[in-house]
Amino acid sequence: MDRRSFLHKSGAMGLALAMGASSCSTGNSIYRKNNNIAGSRHLPRINISPDRIIKETVGLRPYRLSGPRLEVQQLGQKTIVHNYGHGGSGFSLSWGMGQIAATKAATTGEQNIAIMGCGIMGLTTARQLQEMGKSVTIYAKELWPKITSSMATGTWSPAHLICEPDRITPEFKATWEQACSFSFRAYQNLLGLGDMVTWMDHYIIGGSRVPKEAPLLHLAGQLPARVELSKKQHPFRADYVVNQPNMVFNIPLYLQKLTNDFLRFGGKIQIKEFRTLEDVDELPEKCVVNCTGLGAKELFNDEELMPISGQLSFLIPQPEINYRLSTPHGYIIPRKDGLVLGGNAIRNNWNTTPDPKQTELMIAAVNEVVSHMRS
Ligand SMILES: Cc1cc2nc3c(=O)[nH]c(=O)nc-3n(C[C@H](O)[C@H](O)[C@H](O)COP(=O)(O)OP(=O)(O)OC[C@H]3O[C@@H](n4cnc5c(N)ncnc54)[C@H](O)[C@@H]3O)c2cc1C
Repeated sequence: MDRRSFLHKSGAMGLALAMGASSCSTGNSIYRKNNNIAGSRHLPRINISPDRIIKETVGLRPYRLSGPRLEVQQLGQKTIVHNYGHGGSGFSLSWGMGQIAATKAATTGEQNIAIMGCGIMGLTTARQLQEMGKSVTIYAKELWPKITSSMATGTWSPAHLICEPDRITPEFKATWEQACSFSFRAYQNLLGLGDMVTWMDHYIIGGSRVPKEAPLLHLAGQLPARVELSKKQHPFRADYVVNQPNMVFNIPLYLQKLTNDFLRFGGKIQIKEFRTLEDVDELPEKCVVNCTGLGAKELFNDEELMPISGQLSFLIPQPEINYRLSTPHGYIIPRKDGLVLGGNAIRNNWNTTPDPKQTELMIAAVNEVVSHMRS
């Protein structure tokens, strides 16, 4: 099998991310009138080779077949508010899902609230409870950089690997839209704080002006419309390229800000592992928000929850790169902590050891379009 056909047969990769990331695109966008792109774009060259890799991670997306669990459960004396299972959309939806979970917890009337888990869901839920005047303690067995939230690419992708399309109910769609809209606004408020959240051009190779399948989860008016570029308008070795600006999050800085804000407003973080529900029962707080991600599988016996692994390679940062690039089998995202190469998604894979073959595939996929870039 030659490399090209191997690449094509090797499962769900980068284009899925590109499609997911754009699922909030719309023809109604406020940016619609700005579609005219005149002339050729001179983009700095991406330098990608195995000897530039400084770190590799495999993160496990907490994926639930019917979507995130966001409900209240009574467990003896305790009220448990679940907020876990956000798959490949956890960062994007965090503020909105956190707001829904925080409101459910606040309506118990309890002043002291416990949060299980210190990932993006735990932190954003905790901050919003603090803003509601609650005293919050986070209990978690691990913190950054060991948790899934530290191993995300960090792009606006609110519908990526969020649930099985045939399980989307009208109720879920409504919750998703509410969370998507709330989160989008929250992220705009973080613009201008260094490079914590930035907007940048996203070139999608082999994409289409309109996503091929009408996305089931779709919210109008967020991302600018996709613009198809002629060969003269882009420097890549590719027949079909579209551009659609999108948001990128600086993950380490952002998690650090959330943690610092939480502590500054009187929050406490305690290292603690919950092995059984009895451990949860022993907490002093009567209301507990469960943000344990994949940890909820064993603890709450959730058969719907499974990992979808994603491998990332961090290459030496190239500060001059100011755009994202997605190919069907690998993508590149420039971050302060590295040029992030990713694009795979393997269902039910618990193995967190980086696989050199996956790295090779992703490097080959990106190099295929950037190795002969016009400058
Ligand atoms: C490769 C990759 C790329 C991604 N890219 C994006 C992206 O571009 N955009 C986007 O929106 N999302 C993305 N995601 C998805 C996002 O990272 C996740 O949805 C999100 O991080 C999940 O956050 P969480 O807080 O639920 O879980 P986690 O970050 O896993 O945090 C769970 C917390 O619970 C604690 N915990 C678990 N079990 C127990 C227990 N038994 N006792 C005590 N504590 C426990 C853990 O220690 C941890 O503190 C990506 C994910 C991966 C892997």
